[in-house]
Amino acid sequence: MEGKLIIICAPSGSGKSTIIGRIIDDERLRLAFSVSATTRPRRGSEVDGIDYYYLSEDEFKRRIQADEFAEYQEVYPGRFYGTLKSEIARINADGKNVVLDIDVLGGMNVKRIYGDHALSIFIAPPSIEVLRERLVKRGTDSAEDIERRIGKAEFELGYKDQCDHVVVNDDLETAVREVHHLVDTFVNPNSEKE
Ligand code: 5GP
Repeated sequence: MEGKLIIICAPSGSGKSTIIGRIIDDERLRLAFSVSATTRPRRGSEVDGIDYYYLSEDEFKRRIQADEFAEYQEVYPGRFYGTLKSEIARINADGKNVVLDIDVLGGMNVKRIYGDHALSIFIAPPSIEVLRERLVKRGTDSAEDIERRIGKAEFELGYKDQCDHVVVNDDLETAVREVHHLVDTFVNPNSEKE
C-alpha cells in the first residue's frame, strides 16, 4: 500500500517543530519526516541531512532544471525551499507516511498533486504578537529576519482556511493531542479506538 502525506503548514515560531517531534515517533502512525532542501543558511544546532539538505542557490536551481522537486517555493526573497521527489520515494519505499513541514503555498501544491492521499493541517499561533515574542525568545534570528518571518506569517494566515484543518497552538499539550488525533484518523481510518 502506498503511504499517505501529512502536510503541516505553519508560520515559523508557531511550535510546529515541537508538535511534529511529539508525534513522529508514535509507531502506530508510521511517520517519517521529509527532509527538505533549502538555500538558507544553517541555524543554531541544525544538522545537514537531518533538518535540511543545505544547497547553494546554483545547486538548487540545477535540481529544479533536473525536475528533482515535487514542489518548491522561494519562501523568502532569495531563499528557496523544496521537497525532493527522492525523499517521498525513500519514505514510501519504507512503507511509511510522509510528514512535510512546508509553507502554505507549497502545501497547497502538494494537496493539488496528491489529493485524498494528503492531509493538510495549519498550525496557527494564538496571535501575531505571541508569534513575535516566541521568535525573539528563540534567539536564532536577526531582528530583520524576525520582521521578515512576521510578514510571511501574516501572509500565510490569510491562506489557513485552504488547509483541511486549522489547529491553534495556544496550549501545546492540547495542540499535540489535536494534531495526533487528526493524523491518526487519517492514516488509520478503519481502526477502532478504545
Ligand atoms: P525555516 O527557515 O523556519 O526552517 O522555514 C521557513 C519556512 O519554509 C517554513 O514555513 C517552512 O515550513 C517552509 N519550508 C520548509 N521546507 C519547505 C519545502 O520543502 N517546501 C516549501 N514550500 N516550504 C518549505
